[in-house]
Amino acid sequence: MRAMILNRPRGGLVLTELDRPEPGPQQVLIRVHACGVCRTDLHVIDGELTGGKLPIIPGHEIVGRVVAAGAAVTRFIAGDRVGVPWLASTCGACGYCVSGRENLCDQARFTGYQVDGGYAEYALADQHYSFALPDGYSDAEAAPLLCAGLIGYRALVMAGAAKRLGIYGFGAAAHIVAQVARFQGQQIFVFTRPGDDAGKQFARELGAAWTGDSDASPPELLDAAIIFAPVGSLVPLALRGIAKGGTVVCAGIHMSDIPAFPYAILWGERSIRSVANLTRRDGEEFLRIAPQVPVKTAVEIFDLAQANEALRRLREGHITGAAVLVP
Ligand SMILES: [Zn+2]
Ligand SMILES: [Zn+2]
Repeated sequence: MRAMILNRPRGGLVLTELDRPEPGPQQVLIRVHACGVCRTDLHVIDGELTGGKLPIIPGHEIVGRVVAAGAAVTRFIAGDRVGVPWLASTCGACGYCVSGRENLCDQARFTGYQVDGGYAEYALADQHYSFALPDGYSDAEAAPLLCAGLIGYRALVMAGAAKRLGIYGFGAAAHIVAQVARFQGQQIFVFTRPGDDAGKQFARELGAAWTGDSDASPPELLDAAIIFAPVGSLVPLALRGIAKGGTVVCAGIHMSDIPAFPYAILWGERSIRSVANLTRRDGEEFLRIAPQVPVKTAVEIFDLAQANEALRRLREGHITGAAVLVP
């Protein structure tokens, strides 16, 4: 099979011919039809996330069809369409796993980071960590639901019942979260990089009540804000824009350092929290809600061999919606 492989951080991905893998007892072998390109892939490829497997096939928004199943597989049969997210496995026994917080499991392994992912013609996945996908989405449209969608959804839940919700950075996750938030009756205030007129226009098309530069003040105090951009200096800016009792949610896996700020902008029971990974319950909830909204995903499609190009455009902020590789 053809795969795009990371041999060493900052070395770029290399198109490589590999043997097709064989499924273990709990695994399905998937013919990959689409794989989303996520900012986390950039953090892996750029060496900002260390501790992963090398070489690695990145990609953790996999949509495909089961072509073979291990002896113990009961959830899927050949021909089923499945989605594979970032969470590849957990220990199932630790304090986090048994209390509904498997996203925090110390033994968790992640797709495209510690387990080969979907930048390839075939991928393996554990049956218990794979999802059935709603009809009505093409393979490419469904791919961004699997990380941008469901980790974005977790961030939205963590932001609480905010009537006025700020969103910093309007990429793949934000364009999905904005639709769910509007569906829930929330007002959306979107902050983008100064000069990103295309991003602001896209946000208004998806129902944003206001758009502005990331260093601007919102027209009124917000109830919560979600930061999708990996930029720590946005945290104090977001805190200054929320009302007492509000939460600033940092939704990315990596962020530049947060500068010091006066205690006064945290005072008044404001809080800052991160969102880490996903639980399978997040996935099931979000995949049930998405067709009700209905969430529509904007995708830019690239061939598998164009993965480096897709990543470069994502890094430069030139993707509208989500980039998706179609092998
Ligand atoms: Zn992701
Ligand atoms: Zn665990």
